[in-house]
Amino acid sequence: SDALLTVEDLCVDYVTERGWLRVVDKVSFEVQPGEIMGLAGESGSGKSTIIQAILRVLKAPGVITGGTVRFDGKDVLALDKRGLRGLRWCDISLVCQSAMNALNPVITIGEQLGDAIEAHEGVRRSQALVRARELLELVGIEGSRVHAYAHELSGGMRQRVVIAMALALRPRLVLMDEPTTALDVVVQKEILQQIIRLRRELGFAVIFITHDLSLMFELCTHVGVLYAGRLVEHAPSQALFERPMHPYTLGLMRSFPDLHGEGDDLVGVPGNPPDLWKPPKGCRFHPRCPQAFADCSTRAPQLRALVGHRHAACHLVDQVDQLDQLDQLDQV
Ligand code: SF4
Ligand code: MG
Repeated sequence: SDALLTVEDLCVDYVTERGWLRVVDKVSFEVQPGEIMGLAGESGSGKSTIIQAILRVLKAPGVITGGTVRFDGKDVLALDKRGLRGLRWCDISLVCQSAMNALNPVITIGEQLGDAIEAHEGVRRSQALVRARELLELVGIEGSRVHAYAHELSGGMRQRVVIAMALALRPRLVLMDEPTTALDVVVQKEILQQIIRLRRELGFAVIFITHDLSLMFELCTHVGVLYAGRLVEHAPSQALFERPMHPYTLGLMRSFPDLHGEGDDLVGVPGNPPDLWKPPKGCRFHPRCPQAFADCSTRAPQLRALVGHRHAACHLVDQVDQLDQLDQLDQV
């Protein structure tokens, strides 16, 4: 296929004295060029771990214990140090929440951007600084701020600088782990909308994590839903929004006020995510699932491809006739 990123049966374990704890369990998905994939799920569901595994920046005790990650044909898990440097430098960049505190306080932001561009593209200093200015303007900061130090900028501006850095080397995939949650809602939204605009101009793909489901549905082309280390649903975001197929997805959406305003009660998902040391047998969601039946506690549902580029892992979905689904999707 011509997917930009292919993740297949990815497994990550925490290797501890108590034993191995499986935190990402056989997760598979693809990202096409230019796609914006959102990852949803409660904390501890494996979202950040997946993003870190893709770039091989997992922190101990996390270890990739199975599966494959391919980026543009490259086998990411087989790359040596040099190959990895190339990948992180040119192909995939990462923006995380803490990045804005990692800006160097003693050199100007223009110099920081310029250093990266100069080293990467082998251009002259003066040219690198011109590009640094352009990049700042691209993310909505006046070019003259190249002379500013990080502490002279607001949180929102610092985060924009971090995004400019992430885009400086023209990556084809940008990973964003709650890139804006430290900021107020308005600034958050503004920055994310800007990224989407930039993505249209520059053509990169995005995988992003946010707790704000309404923002996710607004910005993403595709959404993946994780539960207890497993991908339970993955679909084009509009289809998922209009008709979630997995009971957990439905529960998540119902717990979000902005999504289902009128009439719908805010029921949420009762109960807590499972202890991964002893996950429930069968479907991991069964103790919390309002639709669980006998099979659910013995047999684990597999993620299955359905019509309309949708995927879901639930025995109920397995029972729905594919023709039925076509009808239902037609009516949407
Ligand atoms: Fe609920 Fe069963 Fe589907 Fe799991 S497989 S989500 S328990 S209906
Ligand atoms: Mg996280």
